[in-house]
Amino acid sequence: MSDNGKKVVDGLGRRDFLKTAGLAGVGVAAAMGGMAAGSAPAAAVAGPLSRAADLPKNKGPRVVVVGGGWSGLTIAKYLKKENPKFDVVLLEPSAMFMSCPLSNLWLGGVVDVDLLLHSYLDAARNNGYVWLQGMLVQFDREKRRAWTTAGHVDYDYIVLAPGIDYNYASLGVKDPAVASTLAHMYPAAFKPGSEHLSLRNKLDDFEEGVFVLNVPAGNYRCMPGPYERACIIASYFKKEGIKGKVILLDPNDKPTIKAEGFLSAFNDLYKDVLEYHTSTTITGVDPHNKVVETEFGEVKFADAALYPRVRAARLIEDVGLVDPNSPQMEARIDHFFYNVPGDEHTYVAGDSRPMPFSKSGNTANTEGKVVAGIIAARAAGKEPKWESPNTICYSMVNTDPRESIMVDAKYKFTKGKGWGFTDVRVINKRSRQLAKANIEWGRGLYRDMFGA
Ligand SMILES: Cc1cc2nc3c(=O)[nH]c(=O)nc-3n(C[C@H](O)[C@H](O)[C@H](O)COP(=O)(O)OP(=O)(O)OC[C@H]3O[C@@H](n4cnc5c(N)ncnc54)[C@H](O)[C@@H]3O)c2cc1C
Repeated sequence: MSDNGKKVVDGLGRRDFLKTAGLAGVGVAAAMGGMAAGSAPAAAVAGPLSRAADLPKNKGPRVVVVGGGWSGLTIAKYLKKENPKFDVVLLEPSAMFMSCPLSNLWLGGVVDVDLLLHSYLDAARNNGYVWLQGMLVQFDREKRRAWTTAGHVDYDYIVLAPGIDYNYASLGVKDPAVASTLAHMYPAAFKPGSEHLSLRNKLDDFEEGVFVLNVPAGNYRCMPGPYERACIIASYFKKEGIKGKVILLDPNDKPTIKAEGFLSAFNDLYKDVLEYHTSTTITGVDPHNKVVETEFGEVKFADAALYPRVRAARLIEDVGLVDPNSPQMEARIDHFFYNVPGDEHTYVAGDSRPMPFSKSGNTANTEGKVVAGIIAARAAGKEPKWESPNTICYSMVNTDPRESIMVDAKYKFTKGKGWGFTDVRVINKRSRQLAKANIEWGRGLYRDMFGA
């Protein structure tokens, strides 16, 4: 490791290494576990990044799939189905999977948390791939080497499916310190894990007053999610006799999806416990005094889950793949075949994609199968095929009795117009039958991603 008294990484001086890996500017904090580039001691750089990850020797083309969410899990499994010779490595830092879909039902006490939790080991073993527990820090598209917190990995193809991050400036919060406070005190609970547990604990402890929720602008993760959550919390307040009110602030003039179904639930079931404020944009938040500022005045709250506008996961920016024209910092990829233009070895899928598809688990799952097919076709020297992903989405609007509504849609591209929905079927009439289908939908998809 020593070259004339200087520390080197894989034969490169530290400065050269940073340059090669593109670490010299943005994203260094992530690479160095929060340390600034200039101040990182060489030993920190030479740690896991400098050694090869502990992996079995690959016997076929290696595909690294970054992110074990709905997209990455599906892609990893279906790559092996498409071509059992692929050596697939799923890179995911979390110790276990916790599902966002159906988490609102768990918040409302309808399902047990066990339904949401799944094992990466089982998914990998059942489907013949390897789970590497770590994070992608950077990769070199020419050399096809990925640097991860678990060591570096050489690959033939890489797929990035890292999901979303939040843009707190969209809530009028420009100071990163205030954004951090806000994220700790009033987490959105639209990313899996601690945020969801925190929201559930808040509800368990809630005694009285206003609970504020909001709908972000733009193409946010899970279109019906904020409306479903408002129903679930209102339903919980009613059932538990809590003297609380849910206030839902929405910049749109009606729910962005399944509007009729949500509006009739708000009116028929929750008139006394739910206020729905349309055309209302949040312009600022004072987390210490518990005040949300809007164009129409202030809302004081006892507790809240504030959902900023989403952007593609920061990783996409850190590795230099952001589309400069994307207001939500999404990836620059071919809209039909998911590869970075001019590079058929690098792909982006799931909620980091730039296409205006619904940022949903069902979309990521059906799209993942298509992406696996595209990579397999190209590896075999064949023409890839495009297919529309499918967005099937149930929302539970009542927990006693359990009643859900649903939508099912695909996408089509029209020259001059861009992307739009096709084959849309919406059921706005809430029913017990749809509530059953709602839970069965989740079970089926967990089986698909984690079972053989
Ligand atoms: C409350 C709620 C309810 C929802 N309900 C539904 C529903 O009913 N139906 C539906 O279809 N969808 C629903 N969704 C949406 C769905 O959860 C998301 O659209 C889906 O998870 C997107 O999949 P993804 O793989 O792109 O991202 P994610 O599932 O978020 O996965 C991204 C993964 O990437 C990992 N990662 C990030 N950075 C790195 C890195 N540098 N290196 C390695 N790994 C990294 C993360 O740890 C994470 O595991 C809901 C979402 C929420 C929050």
